[in-house]
Amino acid sequence: MNFKLPELNYAYDALEPYIDAKTMEIHHSKHHAGYTNNLNNVIKDTDFENQSIESILKSPNLTSNIIDEHSDFWHTLRNNAGGYYNHCLFWETLSPNPEKGSNEFIKIIESTFGSCDNMKEEFGKAAATRFGSGWAWLCVKNGELSICSTPNQDNPLMTGQCGGTPILGLDVWEHAYYLNYQNRRPEYIKAFWNLVDWKSVEAKYQASL
Ligand code: MN
Repeated sequence: MNFKLPELNYAYDALEPYIDAKTMEIHHSKHHAGYTNNLNNVIKDTDFENQSIESILKSPNLTSNIIDEHSDFWHTLRNNAGGYYNHCLFWETLSPNPEKGSNEFIKIIESTFGSCDNMKEEFGKAAATRFGSGWAWLCVKNGELSICSTPNQDNPLMTGQCGGTPILGLDVWEHAYYLNYQNRRPEYIKAFWNLVDWKSVEAKYQASL
């Protein structure tokens, strides 16, 4: 096994009432486990077997959509490498006891977006307007914060996306919220902010510089 399903730092019911226990259990033990297993299976006996997940995601072939005898391989790799990485990042930035970022980091957010509320609004808009399944992201690109969204299990590191380093992501696949929120994605997006651990996001920001 090259990649392992990470253990969560909290219990499945710890994020209630914002994300319910059943959703967390299925999301982690079924969906994320599935991406992890499929990723390990598809890279077996290939050059990707000894690469980091970031290196796999940045491979230009991953998103080139070549229609040939290998295209099933690339689609499977793209979906499952993205699914593996995206969910690892998602779990790490959630907490039942979220901590604030430093004053310095808050100032960087304010100077980039005008205010923290503006940043949340822009991020929420990216999450709400992503049609179908996908993710909203807060990224660091050339040392600056920016917001984008990606379809399916794509992410900003992939060729053709914004090219920034993601430091916060929100899963807007229905499997992330449907049991509790049904079609009310905006309510789920609003609830998400109660769980974001800015200390973890800031650590990812620092690591990206
Ligand atoms: Mn998901």
